[in-house]
Amino acid sequence: MKSPVPRFRDVERQAGSLQPTQCVPPCHDRPNTMWFIRDACGIVCGVITWMLVFFAEFVVLFVMLLPSKNLTYSLVNGTIFNSLAFLALASHFRAMCTDPGAVPKGNATKEYIESLQLKPGQVVYKCPKCCSIKPDRAHHCSVCKRCIRKMDHHCPWVNNCVGENNQKYFVLFTMYIALISLHSLVMVVFHFLYCFEDDWTKCSSFSPPATVILLILLCFEGLLFLIFTSVMFGTQVHSICTDETGIEQLKKEERRWAKKTKWMNMKAVFGHPFSIAWFSPFSTPDHGKADPYQYVV
Ligand SMILES: [Zn+2]
Ligand SMILES: [Zn+2]
Repeated sequence: MKSPVPRFRDVERQAGSLQPTQCVPPCHDRPNTMWFIRDACGIVCGVITWMLVFFAEFVVLFVMLLPSKNLTYSLVNGTIFNSLAFLALASHFRAMCTDPGAVPKGNATKEYIESLQLKPGQVVYKCPKCCSIKPDRAHHCSVCKRCIRKMDHHCPWVNNCVGENNQKYFVLFTMYIALISLHSLVMVVFHFLYCFEDDWTKCSSFSPPATVILLILLCFEGLLFLIFTSVMFGTQVHSICTDETGIEQLKKEERRWAKKTKWMNMKAVFGHPFSIAWFSPFSTPDHGKADPYQYVV
């Protein structure tokens, strides 16, 4: 039987904190400050990510391309590798510094709840940590200390949650890292062959042992990250197509939202209509604005 008044369900199970009036002080977000999570582990992982890309840049440029006698080979591969590495780092920066879809803190006030005009029996979820009313499909992240709309997972490598607003950048980041890993692996194979032909004398400006060590390290890095990021890329595209976040898949949550086609789901994340902007970390996709919870604070 339905209850006559809207019910407040607290998913974090803090029975005593269900009263909206206990949510003090309400904290409002400053809209002009850059989003950045102050988490030591995430910052270290983010710095390691950039250093790994710079190491690959160093080996590709100074060990393989600059000493090469074939100028066209160096120019073509140098341009492709540097462009992809730049796009990978730009995607990483956007994924890290974009608000993933944080729900305003402290909005579980009486006025706000009344303004939602809930129907009798309608269940509303409230987060006791943020003191906010959770929109459907939002989850609380203990690292970001915020509720995140359509939270997929918290990724320490980008030091941020992957959610509604930054999933595009995260997917691009995994794609560009997979591409530079593959490209550097192909170049390492060609360079090894070239060095064998040349008896290791003129194929690098470094000594033969140093050249071998640097190439093997790049080979390991390339293989590891090619596997890791291409699996992540595939998983992300699958969850976008099926419109089911990582958390919803893990928790086997029942689908309460409308089913759309795969193409519509892709457009919801990457922008409408399909264009080259899908592949650009500099273009901000226009996310759906029909959600009433998003703009009422
Ligand atoms: Zn929360
Ligand atoms: Zn998070």
